[in-house]
Amino acid sequence: MTRGIPSRPGARRGRRTAALSATALAALAALAGAAPAQAFELEGPHWATPQRTIDTTDVPAGPFHDALDAAAGEYTSLTHASVSTADATGSPWAAQVVDQGDDGYEGYSTWRYDGQRITYSAAMHLNTHYLDDSLPTARLKVVWEHETGHVLGLAHVPGIDHVMYYRASDAYDDGVTGLTDDEVAGIDSIY
Ligand SMILES: [Zn+2]
Repeated sequence: MTRGIPSRPGARRGRRTAALSATALAALAALAGAAPAQAFELEGPHWATPQRTIDTTDVPAGPFHDALDAAAGEYTSLTHASVSTADATGSPWAAQVVDQGDDGYEGYSTWRYDGQRITYSAAMHLNTHYLDDSLPTARLKVVWEHETGHVLGLAHVPGIDHVMYYRASDAYDDGVTGLTDDEVAGIDSIY
C-alpha cells in the first residue's frame, strides 16, 4: 500500500470450488453459449512479482503435499510465474488442508489486495470432507492448480475442459490432468 492513495486494506475476495452439483450449473451452461474470445478470465488483483513461495506448514506430508508440489512446479515450468513450496511460516501465501465439513466446497481461496489491486496475502484450502489422501495425486493436483490459479489472478471459465472450471474435480473427471494452454495464456497475460 502506498500512503496517500486510497486503499482497501479490508478488501477480501474469495473463490470456492464447488464440490456438489448446483442448480447454478444450468445458468453457467447458458453463459457458455456466449463463447469468450479468450478462454481465460482474470480476477483483477495480482501479485507485484511472479516469484512466489507457498507456505506448506499446514499441508501434511504425502499425497496432498506431493500434489501441491507438482501443481507449483507446473506453473513454474509452463508459465511466466515461478511458484515454489516450502515450510515457510510467515510467507504471505499459505496453503492448508483442513476439514471444513459438509460446506459444499472441496477447496477455496481468499486473497487480500491494496487499492492498486496488488495482492499482498493469500490463503488456500483443500477440504478433507470431500478429498482424502487415497485419491490420485493427479486429482488433488488439479484442485490445487485451480486454487493456485485464483491466487495468481485467474477467475472461473465456463468450459469444463479447463482447470479454472468452477468444479475442478469435474474437469479432472472430464480428462483435465494439468494446466491447459488457456491457463498458461492467462497467467502470462498477467506476469
Ligand atoms: Zn474456483
